[in-house]
Amino acid sequence: MRIVVKVGTSTLTHATGNLNIHRVEQLCKVMSDIKNAGHDMILVTSGATGMGVGKIGLSKKPQDLPTKQAMAAIGQCELMYTYDKLFSEYNHCVAQVLVTKADIDDEKHRQNFHNTLTRLLELKTIPIINENDSVATEEFFIGENDTLAVMVSININADMVILLTDIDGLYTADPRKDETASLIPVVEEITPEIMDLAGGTGSSFGTGGMATKLKAAKMAMEYGCNMVIANGSHPELLYDIVEGKAVGTRFIPKTSGGAEYDNA
Ligand code: GLU
Repeated sequence: MRIVVKVGTSTLTHATGNLNIHRVEQLCKVMSDIKNAGHDMILVTSGATGMGVGKIGLSKKPQDLPTKQAMAAIGQCELMYTYDKLFSEYNHCVAQVLVTKADIDDEKHRQNFHNTLTRLLELKTIPIINENDSVATEEFFIGENDTLAVMVSININADMVILLTDIDGLYTADPRKDETASLIPVVEEITPEIMDLAGGTGSSFGTGGMATKLKAAKMAMEYGCNMVIANGSHPELLYDIVEGKAVGTRFIPKTSGGAEYDNA
């Protein structure tokens, strides 16, 4: 299988913004092992801005664009240094690809992105993708990596995209506030009722939340790609997800694979 794993800032960092070393080590170990079993693995990672903030020691996420972009530039190096070191321990080579919305919207750029990713997979590397936050200007921001992960999955015809986050999946209500909330294991259609279940963002450093995940799920399903939302606190859950076991919330498309990506 060709699998895209997206990991959010809340999974990669502690509440301080500093790296959650144990978590990232586990993630790289499990992804390396799944790759060793013969699957193509692609990582879409957030956390550049959060890690930049942690490294410089700011107390909260900056609001102005130049500082945000500076934090992303600092944190992206730290992120890649960490992934390179950890994946190397398991003999895997990583490759950084940074994209902006223009690279996905424009057909020529999109094809080029596809060619590069395909070649990187043929070369048995683990492509690690993030938005190019340091240079993207407002009109070219994707803004969050849930959508980016699905765009990447469609671009390279992935079989599955797994969004790792700080909650077990989609619930009938916010489990942090309502103890009767229960996990929804399977979603076959993104109805307005399902969209209504999404709350706001969870962590102070991330930008996503359930709403962006459900919008991303809708897009994945339209293009025939399976999607799973699962808890990134336990990266070993990836084994079960790949084996098709019931973990988190699974979004099942009506048709599988093959739809051509366009921007309509
Ligand atoms: N690209 C952003 C970063 O690396 C994260 C976007 C997101 O949180 O989804 O900081």
